[in-house]
Amino acid sequence: MTNIAQLVANQRTFFLNGNTMDYTVRKQQLQKLKSMLKENEASIYQALKTDLNKSKHETLTTELGFLFMEIDHMLKQLQNWMEPIKVSAPITHKGTKNYIIKEPLGVCLVISPWNYPLQLALAPAIGALAAGNCVVIKPSEEAKATSALLKKLTETYFDPSYLTVVEGEKETAQELLQQRFDYIFFTGSTAVGRIIMREASKHLTPVTLELGGKSPVIVDKDANINLAAKRIVWGKFTNAGQTCVAPDYLYVHEKVKFKLLKAMKKYIRSFYGRNPLSNKDYIRIINEKHFNRLSNYLVNGSIVHGGLTDPLTLKIEPTILDKITWEDPVMQEEIFGPILPVLTFDEIEEAVSVIRKQEKPLALYYFGENGNTQQQVMQYLSFGGGSINDTVFHLANPHLPFGGVGESGMGAYHGKYSFNTFSHKKSIMKQSTKFDVPFRYPGSKLSETILKKIMK
Ligand code: NAD
Repeated sequence: MTNIAQLVANQRTFFLNGNTMDYTVRKQQLQKLKSMLKENEASIYQALKTDLNKSKHETLTTELGFLFMEIDHMLKQLQNWMEPIKVSAPITHKGTKNYIIKEPLGVCLVISPWNYPLQLALAPAIGALAAGNCVVIKPSEEAKATSALLKKLTETYFDPSYLTVVEGEKETAQELLQQRFDYIFFTGSTAVGRIIMREASKHLTPVTLELGGKSPVIVDKDANINLAAKRIVWGKFTNAGQTCVAPDYLYVHEKVKFKLLKAMKKYIRSFYGRNPLSNKDYIRIINEKHFNRLSNYLVNGSIVHGGLTDPLTLKIEPTILDKITWEDPVMQEEIFGPILPVLTFDEIEEAVSVIRKQEKPLALYYFGENGNTQQQVMQYLSFGGGSINDTVFHLANPHLPFGGVGESGMGAYHGKYSFNTFSHKKSIMKQSTKFDVPFRYPGSKLSETILKKIMK
């Protein structure tokens, strides 16, 4: 047996021996994870600085802070979620008691990307552990320092039969996918998502696919322009645009475009300084391949802010690209970098009708004050999740499911939705032995009477 096959087999034995079932044990795993993050904060800051030049502030808000919130929410609610749910029954089931048990699935695989390398490896694992599963995490090979740290820390804090990290490139992921898992939770690109689903089908393993896409931010003529500018700049340029739910492109009403762009430039300067390339906390692009891909977008349209790049540090200034058309290369794929193309519309109906023809995005943001229009945009367009008058922040509410639809993915997690994702909902009917309603048996006179009642 290869090492990978062996460790999956060990996890299965550990799971089948019932080691993960108790509430107390699950609670201990979550507490252990929290201690692991707390006691190693300094190394975590260092790893993320190495991988992406993440500042302490960004690591705290978008990686550690998120994970602490998620763990605390689980610790508070877990016992409650583990309780069986009583349900009612129709008249035909008189005398029965009906309930749903949430049971763990078994051994789960989490494959994660590089852009939030700590958060996206551990957040699904938190849900899987809470639901009583064993977990194998395959972090991204592109965020090497974080991947190595995760491996070292999990080895120190966890029994590998419960939670373990397997480092490696896509070949390692492929070897993992040859094993039989009970659930696969994948975060990454749509292209690789298709491969994951195909591989999972061989063992009929259910999947969650957290993918990407082109998430629009729409700014209408009645929007609060100053706040829209501030919140768009924050959502787009945090992590240098390498965020799955970052606004991919700006779709703005012609009448307010000038005012909005002016305010956005002001906030870019305020957040990142006049020279972001020499700002020591400004995030870099993950690798040369992505740096070159992004730099190529800058030849189309007209740069109205930013546009400078530094191949030595792999940094690209927060950039606004005006005079863009739907045919330009920057509009053909998810940008995943600090470049914001701008398109305009005259009527909101026009914007909605154009977006409706695109693939369903992971997120959508609408800025505008009219309640009816807000409602229409939210209801008429299909997307994973989003906000009215904000960007990105919705994903940090553990009471909201987070996930895509169509090309942006399937399934959802965070908070209770994570617990549910990694649990099987087992239906149980407890029948009475005190009496036996005869209507379902051949020859029963009651059948017709009862069925007629139901069918009327
Ligand atoms: P990616 O799909 O290239 O890689 C993700 C993971 O899959 C990595 O661990 C990688 O080793 C593995 N992998 C790559 N090729 C594989 C293959 N052929 N077979 C099996 N495994 C393979 O994605 P990325 O570049 O790391 O991340 C960027 C993408 O992730 C963007 O599209 C972004 O939108 C998306 N993303 C989505 C979310 C979300 O929550 N929906 C969050 C972050 C990123």
